[in-house]
Amino acid sequence: MSELTPAPVEGEPLVEIRGLRKSFGTHEVLKGIDLVVHPGEVVCIIGPSGSGKSTLLRCVNLLEQPTAGTIRIGAMEVTDPDVDIDLVRRHVGMVFQQFNLFPHLSVLRNCTIAQDKVLGRKGADAERIARSTLARVNLDDKLDAFPAQLSGGQQQRVAIARALSMDPDLMLFDEPTSALDPELVGDVLTVMRRLADEGMTMLVVTHEMAFAREVAHRVVFMDDGMIVEQGPPEQVISAPTEERTREFLRRVL
Ligand code: ADP
Ligand code: MG
Repeated sequence: MSELTPAPVEGEPLVEIRGLRKSFGTHEVLKGIDLVVHPGEVVCIIGPSGSGKSTLLRCVNLLEQPTAGTIRIGAMEVTDPDVDIDLVRRHVGMVFQQFNLFPHLSVLRNCTIAQDKVLGRKGADAERIARSTLARVNLDDKLDAFPAQLSGGQQQRVAIARALSMDPDLMLFDEPTSALDPELVGDVLTVMRRLADEGMTMLVVTHEMAFAREVAHRVVFMDDGMIVEQGPPEQVISAPTEERTREFLRRVL
């Protein structure tokens, strides 16, 4: 897609991260991250285990409290001490490696409960939207199933539908296919590719280099809490300029 659809870089950024630092005790995990994402842009974040990729995503929706720096998403100052965390979470959908569905709720209810509790969107309205997002992830035949009755790939697609049901401006994906059996990865990536084609702004931590190469407008390589290199996939994945990027790619490609 990167060759067909140019990166939408004109106009105001949707996400603006400046000087972001995060420490756990004395361990500094993010060491000054600057990252700007425009509406409709798909940014894939790659890098070795422990480099701070998950912590970065978790700071964006305040699952972690940043130690220093600023994060803005649209009109929201995420790092303002008085920010409404629920408001941030309404605008930012997140998909985790481990799905995190409610095991005791049906697929349909998994996709209506947050609409009800967070948006106050009730009954038939919430259900209509859940049905339509479940159709977008090709699961409209599983509305009454429970998570345990689904494959990992199906569960992950429910998690994506659940996030989409909140009409997010931004979607965060943290290694969404890493827990899946190899034969189930494709269906999830297909759904994510479609979302990207529809213009969703996405920050995706992934080890799927083929996906990053094909779908990302920009690839960001992180190591040791810093952005080492970023640019279009054909540059960062195919012709990296930094030795640390080259070394990482030698191990994963
Ligand atoms: P990645 O996602 O790139 O593998 P993480 O962001 O998960 O990296 O972790 C980066 C570093 O921060 C690791 O050393 C990890 O052990 C540490 N870390 C992450 N979360 C916590 C936490 N809640 N408490 C203490 N250390 C943490
Ligand atoms: Mg991680």
